[in-house]
Amino acid sequence: MVRITLVQGDITRQHADAIVNAANSSLLGGGGVDGAIHRAGGPEILDACRDLRASHYGKGLPTGRAVATTAGRLQARWVIHTVGPVWSAEEDRSELLASCYRESLRVADELGARTVAFPAISTGIYGWPMEDGARIAIETVRQTETSVEEVGFVLFDGRAYEAFAAQME
Ligand code: ADP
Repeated sequence: MVRITLVQGDITRQHADAIVNAANSSLLGGGGVDGAIHRAGGPEILDACRDLRASHYGKGLPTGRAVATTAGRLQARWVIHTVGPVWSAEEDRSELLASCYRESLRVADELGARTVAFPAISTGIYGWPMEDGARIAIETVRQTETSVEEVGFVLFDGRAYEAFAAQME
């Protein structure tokens, strides 16, 4: 079974084979984790994303899917971009959020990544309640069959860290 670790900090400072980006479907950058990854990783990542838009993902990356690029100057070999669902009180989009974690691990397996760092997908600009986002993240990673040896959740603040720690018990 995959080992899960929790870290409080900035995901762009992590060492891992692959760092997961909470991207948006345009793949052309945004705020939050996305902005931080492009700032820290440099223009090579955006160039690779533009190539993806010009080839396989002309309409953008669908919600719940994942795709890898170079990690540029980050201390990682790859960035895996995944598009979380926007939180909705009317509609249950949990399956799409779970899909982000599953698909990212599937891409990591294809790459041969052994260590993967995840942010708390959808819990920022996309408004997903942190406790529920943490539950889905931990449950899904635990239930996914993968050759990845270590998944590190990198939580930006103490509140996010506590929410994930509560789910680990
Ligand atoms: P989304 O659009 O999927 O909600 P965000 O990037 O807005 O994505 O936020 C996802 C989570 O990542 C939030 O909990 C946010 O606080 C956190 N976050 C923002 N910047 C960073 C960073 N540099 N490293 C780790 N987590 C971050």
